[in-house]
Amino acid sequence: MDEKQDLLDMTYDELIKALTQLGYPAFRAKQVYQWLYAGQLDFEGMTNLPKEMREKLSACFYAGGLKVANRLVSSVDGTRKYLFELKDGNIIESVLMKYEYGYSVCLSTQVGCRMGCAFCASSPLGLVRSLTVGEMLGQVLSISHDIGERISHVVLMGIGEPFDNYDNVIAFMRRLNREDTLNISFRKMTVSTCGIVPKILSFAQEDIPVNLAISLHAPTDEVRTKTMPVARKWPMDELLAACNAYARTTSRRVTYEYSLIKDVNDFPEYAEILAKKLKGTLCHVNLIPVNTVEGTTFDKSTRSRIEAFKQILEKHHITVTVRRELGSDIMAACGQLRRNTLVESGKV
Ligand code: SAH
Repeated sequence: MDEKQDLLDMTYDELIKALTQLGYPAFRAKQVYQWLYAGQLDFEGMTNLPKEMREKLSACFYAGGLKVANRLVSSVDGTRKYLFELKDGNIIESVLMKYEYGYSVCLSTQVGCRMGCAFCASSPLGLVRSLTVGEMLGQVLSISHDIGERISHVVLMGIGEPFDNYDNVIAFMRRLNREDTLNISFRKMTVSTCGIVPKILSFAQEDIPVNLAISLHAPTDEVRTKTMPVARKWPMDELLAACNAYARTTSRRVTYEYSLIKDVNDFPEYAEILAKKLKGTLCHVNLIPVNTVEGTTFDKSTRSRIEAFKQILEKHHITVTVRRELGSDIMAACGQLRRNTLVESGKV
């Protein structure tokens, strides 16, 4: 069994404790901490530490434990998809996107997912396990180190359901926000959920003004249950009530993600129903033309349907955008990330 501990999984105080137990003074722990959050996850590269200490660190610890198994760069928009191999051999995916305002990482929160949404590539193989805080930090830090740039935004929209890994996700976001780590403001973080109502209510009490995105994808329970099993557990009126509570408590508008699937959820009358339900709430609708996923039969809505849907929402004064599709040529777009194997990633 691997007895090594993950330094990224530790808070600053825990890291000091772990290193003082090995006989190192606190200033050495501080140096290690600074290296880690500068993206140097390989102890060999921590050049201001004595060689003996670097060897000792390698013998007792690791940092995140992620290895880049593959890296794909979109020839269309420069989006990068990273396949990371975790310590236990599982593979997850993360995506780096470049915007005018900076670099944004879309990261995974679990190995696989058990929510079962019919249109999503993360669903078919189910859930293996949740990621640790160290593994989530490892994705952001490894990517930042790889491109040699600061990451300014983080979206928890990769593989997995963040609220099915609630405690680690909250601890991760709090850690990222610290001045002595990446100092990313909560307003530049977005967590997306398929609608786990009790967790949305807890989230409202955390007192961290993170952007909340809800994968809605339908105007009624009847339509929603066709593709999203979670809708059976928490009906839409409960979901919307929880979202409105979040908006009231945090004064942040909630984003509703609506992936438009041809002849499933893209009818004009559905836009009318949705508009009525959202009217007067602090919200924003993000329309996403559904992306193709192997093994599913869903098609993208036509341009005219998308435009009509958008215009109906606008007519009712609901702010709405159509999401730019980044990285679809490397299967890095919404819903295209999946649990992977080394064979598929081309490594063996
Ligand atoms: N499990 C969380 C985090 C995933 S975020 C959630 O459900 O919110 C990824 C977003 O992409 C979600 O809104 C998801 O519903 C959406 N999505 C999944 N498959 C998609 C597809 N094939 N095309 C477009 N969007 C998709």
